[in-house]
Amino acid sequence: MEIILAEKMGFCFGVKRTVNETQKLVDQNLIDAITFGPIIHNNDVITYFNQKGITYVNNLEELKQKLKEKKINTVVIRTHGVRKDILEEIKKLNLKVINGTCPYVTKVHKIVEKMSREGYPILIIGKADHPEIIGVTGYIDNNVPYFIIKNEEELNQIDFSKIKKIAVVSQTTEKIEKVQKIVSKLISFIPEVRYFKTICYATDENQEAVHKLAPNVDIMIVIGGKSSSNTKKLFEIAKQYCDRTYHIENEKDLDINWFNYDDKVGITAGASTPDWVIHNVINKIKEFSDILKNNTVKV
Ligand code: SF4
Repeated sequence: MEIILAEKMGFCFGVKRTVNETQKLVDQNLIDAITFGPIIHNNDVITYFNQKGITYVNNLEELKQKLKEKKINTVVIRTHGVRKDILEEIKKLNLKVINGTCPYVTKVHKIVEKMSREGYPILIIGKADHPEIIGVTGYIDNNVPYFIIKNEEELNQIDFSKIKKIAVVSQTTEKIEKVQKIVSKLISFIPEVRYFKTICYATDENQEAVHKLAPNVDIMIVIGGKSSSNTKKLFEIAKQYCDRTYHIENEKDLDINWFNYDDKVGITAGASTPDWVIHNVINKIKEFSDILKNNTVKV
């Protein structure tokens, strides 16, 4: 079996930054800390920090409850960011706040805040229930409408008859092809469309690497959290080229029956997948390779 790694994959700048900040708390034994939301969409990393004593809360009420029950003095904001009003409430609590919001997400906050203040309705391309998008909506001025669509078809469900101008952003992990289609459709019927490319560089690079790798392998393994948007997008792209594409969280999800002894195996990983998980997967596939090779020789 030949294993080929995508040219770009794994931990991105934003995830590294927040994980490192949280790791510093562990290193300094400052574990009277909690994260606001799972810091990244990766269960292995969340479990690791849990074991070190840093757990997470899902919302403000839970955070206030934790403050009452347990002596916590630090809160780390997840990479996906939070709504502006929530951040302001958190800052009022007597806690040290480490804002782990990725700067690429902060950029989206600033764009929607500015454009909505200038009176532009906002169209967001992404998943309405994703924490990043929930956070972004919290920066839109209340006086303008906003819409969230996850695909081109959902444009048809919106009444644009009174809209003469609009600002468009997307989730940082969106696929560029989808965004391009939606923007070209919008410009055919709205006189002023201001599009801001908010797909982050890590998403661009990781997706581009899968476009290159997936057509040239027999099987693709995509490693990352099941709720990680950018990992799901990598899976969708790989699947376009390679029928035998599998999305796994870690080496425990691998199945030897997926592989043939002479396969070319492509590997990619989402932006929230740590290197140690990737290494474990590679080692497991190497073990499979040896087993399959031996079995083939015996036959
Ligand atoms: S995927 Fe992009 S936006 Fe998300 S944390 Fe990484 S660099 Fe930031």
